[in-house]
Amino acid sequence: MSKPTPALVNARRIPSQPAAQLKTAEPPHINKSAAIKPAKIDWQTDDTGNMVPVSGEFGDVYFSHADGLAESRYVFLQCNQLPERLANLAPQQCFTIAELGFGTGLNLLAVWQLWRQLRATHPQLATARLHLITTEKYPIAREDLTQILTLWAQRAPELADIIQQLLAAYPTLIAGCHRLNFINDNLTVDIWLGDATNSLAKLNPIISNQKIAYIDAWFLDGFAPSCNSALWGDSIFTQIQRLSISGTTAATYSCAGIVKRALQNSGFEIKKVAGFGPKNEMLTAVMRDTITPDALTAANDSVKAEAENNAKPSVSDKPNHTVIIGAGVSGLLTAWSLANRGIKVTLLDKTAPLSGASGNPRALLAPKMTPIHHVDDHLHTIGYLYSSRLYRQLNDNAIKGNMPPVLEPTGALDLLVKANIGTEQIADYPNEMATTLSDAQAQKTTGLVQQDLSENLYLPQSGLVNPQALKEVILEHPMITFEQLAVTQIDETEAQVSVSGHKYMVSHKSTISHNDVENDVSQEAEVITIQADSLVICAAYESHQLDGRIFDCRKIRGQLSWFTPTAEQRTNLPKLPIKYGGYCAPFMGQIGDAKLNNVFEGQQQILLGASFVRNDTDTDIRSHEHQQNRDKLVMDIPELDAVIPTDTNLWQGRAGIRTQTPDYHPMVGRLAQSKRIWTLSAMGAKGYAFAPICAEALADMIIGDFAPLSAAMLARLSPNRALLQTPLV
Ligand code: SAM
Repeated sequence: MSKPTPALVNARRIPSQPAAQLKTAEPPHINKSAAIKPAKIDWQTDDTGNMVPVSGEFGDVYFSHADGLAESRYVFLQCNQLPERLANLAPQQCFTIAELGFGTGLNLLAVWQLWRQLRATHPQLATARLHLITTEKYPIAREDLTQILTLWAQRAPELADIIQQLLAAYPTLIAGCHRLNFINDNLTVDIWLGDATNSLAKLNPIISNQKIAYIDAWFLDGFAPSCNSALWGDSIFTQIQRLSISGTTAATYSCAGIVKRALQNSGFEIKKVAGFGPKNEMLTAVMRDTITPDALTAANDSVKAEAENNAKPSVSDKPNHTVIIGAGVSGLLTAWSLANRGIKVTLLDKTAPLSGASGNPRALLAPKMTPIHHVDDHLHTIGYLYSSRLYRQLNDNAIKGNMPPVLEPTGALDLLVKANIGTEQIADYPNEMATTLSDAQAQKTTGLVQQDLSENLYLPQSGLVNPQALKEVILEHPMITFEQLAVTQIDETEAQVSVSGHKYMVSHKSTISHNDVENDVSQEAEVITIQADSLVICAAYESHQLDGRIFDCRKIRGQLSWFTPTAEQRTNLPKLPIKYGGYCAPFMGQIGDAKLNNVFEGQQQILLGASFVRNDTDTDIRSHEHQQNRDKLVMDIPELDAVIPTDTNLWQGRAGIRTQTPDYHPMVGRLAQSKRIWTLSAMGAKGYAFAPICAEALADMIIGDFAPLSAAMLARLSPNRALLQTPLV
């Protein structure tokens, strides 16, 4: 047998194939741009005759050739004492694991299955949560992962169901954080694509000066230090230390000197224990109570000081009841994120849900693109990808409830009239997210025939959101109650927040005089006060009126137009949503549409958006704005001039007020000098793309967990950011 190459001498698991058949471990290609390079997968046969993946970049195995799943259960679960620690979580408690190297997701599957078993047998875990934060620089392409995990589903049928769920949620390979929520299992998985050190550096443990988030257990699962030194270097351990507190554990299959020393220098007490399979030894570690002065200096002092004083909020600190003011898309999604963390939500609005700008018949979910090197910290992209994943998941709930889909996956074509990216930059993106169609394909896809469409951005995952269906799904959540209340007063004390307002009771008095029935409709106001332990203001441009600390934003009126095309018009209208200077989208009326707008089930419609009028808060429907929407369309797509009726009198419309900050970022966070009042507002025209991920971040901040957005992004979104300290003129 040939002598192993140096890279394999310390390799974690002894490959069953002669080492010479593996690639020697050359330093992986340094990818200067943020474009993610998928892993190169080679295949080998393991000790029991199964086909298993091997990294083409690093020449190391993803998991033991003895039995990867058994190894994962022993090394990472058992040696971090997860069976006991998870079983002992209190209701609502969140346990956070961080992993270096997501790879095939086998560790996730092992811990997910354990978590499921424990939740089935421990009733107090019904509201407890498991949060896995994992990092991956060379993610496995979906096709390869499907092949790898299909083999695992055959070898370990107990994993088959969760494998299917993981594959369905597996993200597009774009740098940055991808949050996957498996709601039925109270499991959140954040996959940070990109270099692990950079990703961990983005995590924000400081929630407030009373609360920090921290990691409970680490899975140190890089390839062997000899062939993947970057994942075992000082900079990664600086992050591990920064995010750990006394009692945090770590486990790794490696027993290399460099790993032992790095763990010890980071404040961990290490222990050698028996290794798995052919490995004699492995390491477990626990963060000591006190850390050495040297380590303290290396760490982030303020985080450590807080950790020692306070640490994660105790279960009793967690809010049990939150009031949300505003039942538009921001309020609805905030309610959803909090309710899924076991928090009771009272959602208030002075009128019915979706009465404001979020109540359009359909919302086009399509991203504003950016050159790929900015993508990892680009809210439009992160929000778009998360929203489309969430809405697709919610489609299952909608189907079960006999409702129309929340997201109709139509795809969309952007003619790049207003985009800040050209076709060359689009080419840097994975095709599943964005691509450019040939002129002929674009014509075939859209049904347009006269125009040169060669400059385009095709978005296969784009679609039309049905706000009414989304609302119905969210309001079915047993932890969410909607109440109509016109809030007039908010009082915050150390212990709670009180929200008071008028609830209008409509009473009908009928009197009969001669042959006429006179209906006397009067409104009586009842004053109601609701107490909660936190409050989130999601009242768009009216947020400022509810709490003067919230920036008084720019108000922009936008009127949407739609009409029912004739059969002849329909054949010449675009077949899918198109973005130009505005946007147009064909859609079919569905059950429930008529509750919000003049759209009826089974009616084919074409939607045109939207006018843009600054500093105007009227919501009347204006015929000249219908005309503007028409003009915008025919200016960019002239062939539609002959198709779209010129008489807009029969058109329907809806005007809403968009709320915008000077830097166009929403406001997400706690208000200055407040312990209990938060806001999520100023979504502009992007509520359906921004609100889901922002609501997740806000809910995490409220309970003291890691948000799926970088610390820099959270600072950019803060309602107290410097840019919002000067009122608009
Ligand atoms: N935990 C994985 C599983 O359950 O399949 C196996 C992980 S595998 C041993 C190591 C992983 O670390 C590989 O997927 C590799 O691409 C990833 N990796 C290597 N260098 C990295 C880096 N600098 N940042 C993030 N991930 C890295």
